[in-house]
Amino acid sequence: MPGFEVFGDEEKKEIQDVLDTGVLFRYEFGDQRKGVFKVREFEQKFAAYCGAGHGQAVTSGTAALKVAMIAMGISPGDEVITQGFTFVATWEAILEVGAIPVFTEVDETLNMDPHDLEKKITDKTKLIIPVHMLGAPARIKEIMTIADGKNIPVLEDTAQAPGASLDGKVLGSFGKCGTFSFDSVKTITTGEGGMIVTDDEELWRKMSEYHDHGHDHAVNPGGRGGEGRSFVGFNYRMMELQGAMGLAQLAKLDDIVASHKKNKKALKDALTEIPGVSFRTILDEKGDSASFLGFFLETAEAANKVNAILGANGAGAIAFGANTWHFYPAWEHLLGGKSLCTSGWPFASHGGKRRVVYDADGLPQSAALMDRLLVYQVPVILSDERLAEMLLAIKKAVGY
Ligand SMILES: *Cc1c(COP(=O)(O)O)cnc(C)c1O
Repeated sequence: MPGFEVFGDEEKKEIQDVLDTGVLFRYEFGDQRKGVFKVREFEQKFAAYCGAGHGQAVTSGTAALKVAMIAMGISPGDEVITQGFTFVATWEAILEVGAIPVFTEVDETLNMDPHDLEKKITDKTKLIIPVHMLGAPARIKEIMTIADGKNIPVLEDTAQAPGASLDGKVLGSFGKCGTFSFDSVKTITTGEGGMIVTDDEELWRKMSEYHDHGHDHAVNPGGRGGEGRSFVGFNYRMMELQGAMGLAQLAKLDDIVASHKKNKKALKDALTEIPGVSFRTILDEKGDSASFLGFFLETAEAANKVNAILGANGAGAIAFGANTWHFYPAWEHLLGGKSLCTSGWPFASHGGKRRVVYDADGLPQSAALMDRLLVYQVPVILSDERLAEMLLAIKKAVGY
């Protein structure tokens, strides 16, 4: 999976350009920067890669979610629907803007189940956030049809799926906007960082100003210039060193995906021999970024047994059903409404009344899938020795 595997001279060269000017900052510094605008260039190239009109770089994928929601006008009390299998960041951002996260089931795509989405929409629903988990698409076309029918915007959390597409359209470009993360474990990395892509110029202009303390960017879209302010903002600015990293990593993205595909196929072919194994539904094999390989056993017991053998032989898989960062029943701080605010916000209103209660057993369909699921993170670089070790472990699991 991660872009850190392929750091090289390309990253060093881009970063050296920034160090040579001494301007580590994305705005201002006139002549001293000698025309070097790495963050701006990264935004433009990343948006173009996604087939989107505009890119807004920020400090993290979580900040990307928040900045996008603020610019879309999401407000305290609004309901925002996402899925119960995602990284905690998705709903942290929803809580951060004061809105209330509502969770859908996932299906065998390991992403949002459109049937359950329909059931969870209320007249308070102001946004839908499908997450393209583990490198492959959600049923985004069905989700868009449902959302469009109700006039609810869609934000795609594409943190885990740069380089992936569905029927030739890049993920993150279906909804009103798409967000990405470049943290330490993502497919391309800038150390820390995030991006929002959108075709909506007005939305992009709002994000641009909001993430820069509300500075007036109107006279110089994507940059500073005026002295007016239209609204209060915050600081989520990306710095030039990150933009430089992003440019070098983006240039490698297609090669990263090609390596994933080759390595994933080798592992998948071997797993097919395990009795009772089936694979995660991939809606478009061609568009899969192949950063992960998800497979199911027939029962939770079988999955545990198989993974014990894989683990004992040096090739254990991730059991996401037991992972405390990605699956709803294990989010005890969410379920328990734990907050540092003395008022209990955002789980309680300022009068102390609990705004929402989460039931740990609320997503039975997802739980039944997660218990049987095992996942390999597919490396970009897989040596012959390591591949042989993994294949041997899988072979041993065939007789589980
Ligand atoms: C990593 C991730 C994020 C958050 O990204 P950060 O850059 O770590 O803040 C958001 N959503 C999902 C699904 C992620 O995997």
